[in-house]
Amino acid sequence: MTVEKTSIDTLVVGAGQAGVAMSEHLSKLGVPHLVLERDRIAERWRTGRWDSLVANGPAWHDRFPNLEFDGLEPDAFASKDQVADYFVAYAEKFEAPIRTGVEVKEVVRNAGRQGFTIETSEGTIEASRVVVATGPFQRPVIPPIAPEAPNLTQIHSAEYRNPEHLPEGAVLVVGAGSSGVQIADELQRAGREVYLSVGPHDRPPRAYRGRDFCWWLGVLGEWDAEVMRPGKEHVTIAVSGARGGHTVDFRRLAHQGITLVGLTKSFNGGVVTFQSDLAINIARGDENYLSLLNAADTYVARNGLDLPEDHEARIIPADPECVLNPVLELDLTKAGVTSIIWATGYAVDFSWLKIDAFDEKGKPKHQRGVSKEPGIYFLGLPWLSRRGSAFIWGVWHDARHIADHIVTQRKYLSYRDASQRHATDGREERAASAPVDSCLHKVSEMGVN
Ligand SMILES: Cc1cc2nc3c(=O)[nH]c(=O)nc-3n(C[C@H](O)[C@H](O)[C@H](O)COP(=O)(O)OP(=O)(O)OC[C@H]3O[C@@H](n4cnc5c(N)ncnc54)[C@H](O)[C@@H]3O)c2cc1C
Repeated sequence: MTVEKTSIDTLVVGAGQAGVAMSEHLSKLGVPHLVLERDRIAERWRTGRWDSLVANGPAWHDRFPNLEFDGLEPDAFASKDQVADYFVAYAEKFEAPIRTGVEVKEVVRNAGRQGFTIETSEGTIEASRVVVATGPFQRPVIPPIAPEAPNLTQIHSAEYRNPEHLPEGAVLVVGAGSSGVQIADELQRAGREVYLSVGPHDRPPRAYRGRDFCWWLGVLGEWDAEVMRPGKEHVTIAVSGARGGHTVDFRRLAHQGITLVGLTKSFNGGVVTFQSDLAINIARGDENYLSLLNAADTYVARNGLDLPEDHEARIIPADPECVLNPVLELDLTKAGVTSIIWATGYAVDFSWLKIDAFDEKGKPKHQRGVSKEPGIYFLGLPWLSRRGSAFIWGVWHDARHIADHIVTQRKYLSYRDASQRHATDGREERAASAPVDSCLHKVSEMGVN
């Protein structure tokens, strides 16, 4: 397959949800564009996650505005494959010009003229603009404390698939955000002995007074928060749509049989040490949980809503033994631990973008996705414009803003002063009398692959 267009107004890199949303808005506004995806549409949902994963938000919420999930109840949680299928169907709906199986290898700004030259696995193209929609979670990160131990299976949560996929034995799951907590729960239910290393976290109730937390974050304006609250930079969020959706409650997980431990500090000679912060992390998680209930109650009272009271939601189970007397050291061999799953997050990789759009730490410099390098846009990054930016519903709105910006820029750049307009008129007259063949150019139309 070759990239048929040798030049395009706007190139979108990546056809996950961000690339699909971008393409929809550009299509609506009549901006000629092409989306290049190295794998398949929504590949990360298809193959980059564990088998049993479902969306963290219900189907009515975790979707784009213009299409519902086929055959799913609005309050159900779509499986990862249903999410991937959804984006394929979405792209087909408006015939998004997506080329799959084409990797963008390098983007360089043109010297002394407008636009960018893009090296792809299928050849070179030029674009006036490039939208980087390569995802918020590109490169799995395992912290440098990970031990060198050939007898231990160590994988990142991005590589975990199911309990059978791990060798027999106990498992240490490091990180208790939505991924770590769901994987630990699944492993324990499959009969594994599980240690779960819990750091600072938020844990909103799955539902309160009959409404999902996604609804509460929406009406309380939390999804729209433009900046992370100070001190929350290293706080993960623990939510789960698994088994119909439930509140993540670490005490319940401990009563169920998981051994909770504090933040993983270091490994030394087969012994892992944990920080003594478990109780405080759990207590802060409770504070976050209760603060949402309080905010929800205030909202109900102020707006006179008829939502049923939910006293049970305020019952916090007793502290389990592992919180009262936390394990601070664990000999992995004696504990029978044969695997470690690092649910420790992801980083981005923009090494292929050879442009001046990053700060000294390598982070993109941008305003709501509009880069400091004119013509470059970032989409889908956490907190791009607000808390919802990396999530399904949020990226669609950010894409609309970027599409508007592109249209405005195109308008400026297409402006011609009077002398240029006269010169163009003359050329157009000559072109109108030229043979048809001479007007043909290399661009050919493409459909969805
Ligand atoms: C475990 C997990 C569960 C999540 N659950 C939810 C949820 O329930 N609800 C929710 O709203 N969000 C959820 N998210 C967050 C977010 O919705 C997903 O991460 C989503 O995949 C982000 O979409 P994206 O399009 O921005 O990026 P991606 O899905 O990562 O898509 C980027 C695409 O770019 C392609 N690409 C990358 N580099 C290149 C290149 N150089 N050339 C060509 N193509 C390239 C990749 O192949 C990929 O297909 C979850 C995230 C994770 C990790």
